[in-house]
Amino acid sequence: MTEAINPQIFREYDIRGLVDKDLTQDSTERIGKGIGTYIRRNGGKTLTVGYDMRVSSIPFRDSLIRGINSTGCDVINIGMVPTPVAYFSLHHLKPDGGVMITGSHNPAEFNGFKVSHGLHSLYGERIQELRELIDRNDYELGMGKLRHESILEDYIQSICDLVKVSRSVKVVVDGGNGCFGIVGPKLLNRIGADITELYCEPDGNFPNHHPDPTVAKNMVDLIDKVKEEGAELGIGFDGDADRIGIVDEKGNIIWGDQLLMIFARDLLKRKPGATVVGEVKCSQNLFKDIEKHGGTAVMSAAGHSLIKKKMQETNALLAGEMSGHICFADDYYGFDDAIYAACRILQIVASSKKKISEMLTDVPKTAATPEIRVDCPDDRKFEIVRELTENFRKQYDVIDLDGVRVNFKNGWALIRASNTQPVIVFRFEANNADQLDVIISLVRKAISKYEPIVTLGKGLC
Ligand SMILES: [Zn+2]
Repeated sequence: MTEAINPQIFREYDIRGLVDKDLTQDSTERIGKGIGTYIRRNGGKTLTVGYDMRVSSIPFRDSLIRGINSTGCDVINIGMVPTPVAYFSLHHLKPDGGVMITGSHNPAEFNGFKVSHGLHSLYGERIQELRELIDRNDYELGMGKLRHESILEDYIQSICDLVKVSRSVKVVVDGGNGCFGIVGPKLLNRIGADITELYCEPDGNFPNHHPDPTVAKNMVDLIDKVKEEGAELGIGFDGDADRIGIVDEKGNIIWGDQLLMIFARDLLKRKPGATVVGEVKCSQNLFKDIEKHGGTAVMSAAGHSLIKKKMQETNALLAGEMSGHICFADDYYGFDDAIYAACRILQIVASSKKKISEMLTDVPKTAATPEIRVDCPDDRKFEIVRELTENFRKQYDVIDLDGVRVNFKNGWALIRASNTQPVIVFRFEANNADQLDVIISLVRKAISKYEPIVTLGKGLC
């Protein structure tokens, strides 16, 4: 009798759990059997497998591959790589799918799997199908083969062929001891950047800071180093290098939607009328700015798999999230690659007469809160957000593609249930601080009937 795998590790966009508790040699081998079976039943035969620098990743690589091979699926082991290199392998080696073993930006005790079928990430119901296969022990049988192939040099060369940077830009890169260091410094040197490295030695114990560049406290060392070196910008990467965070030459953080604005303006100069996808958490300034520069702005639900799906549906050439997932499809494959995005920002900085801090000075100033995460039980969060949506709909214009974004006269409020945690996420933006207060008060009043299940605290901005 095999022990049941914790169903909660099969999440919306990936499989992720605690090492030694949820993820063991046994459970990861069964996950491998499930993935192999899924691919074979969908007409496939070959998977690439890559892994990050976590201590548990090598043992899990072996058990996962054992599981996949036992279903008759062949594996190409591409070695220790960032997640974008694993995505690149899908285009470069053309397998039927791939698995990246990574805990992304999570602490050392976590690990997980990002699974692709064909060129696209498995998410939502497909991940649940996988869980059901594993629950039923319903596997294909066979003897798959294993071979090794390093594609790091091909990855570096293909980006060097695509991105030409007109002069050497002085930049500090903070790899967060994650996967960036495996390939990033070599690539950036090759495109001619003048780089200062911070924490570029892969170390799965993350001895310096948590590898998540969207959290300001993780950017402190990068900010200090940018100032100390007089660098033109600083670039931070999350643990598996699919998310980027940027700091300008003065040490100010450029948030995901602002960065997307910089990329969109650059793109629209070359591809007038192009479609650009942002998500529900992004500033209204982003969508207005895209339209103002002749582009078509599309709002998507949040989540990297969902923005990529929206990108395909709308033939968009660029998509991005507050969280720093940025996808380029003008000259690139359309997946989120923070190392490629780093090359693109260097290209922009190199060819611009402006410093990076000056690039968005013409954007209207607004007052906004960061993302506010409020605890709410999983079994209530969706229902509460649904009820709030219907209530606001009676009086206001609402966008309900992912939670609810309520458009008020002078700003907006976002209320959405997190897909991955027992949390409701709020964000607010208005033309000025007074109007922001008004909007927050309106929302606070609307949710007061759910206290104490959901409580929007004071002092939000
Ligand atoms: Zn990541």
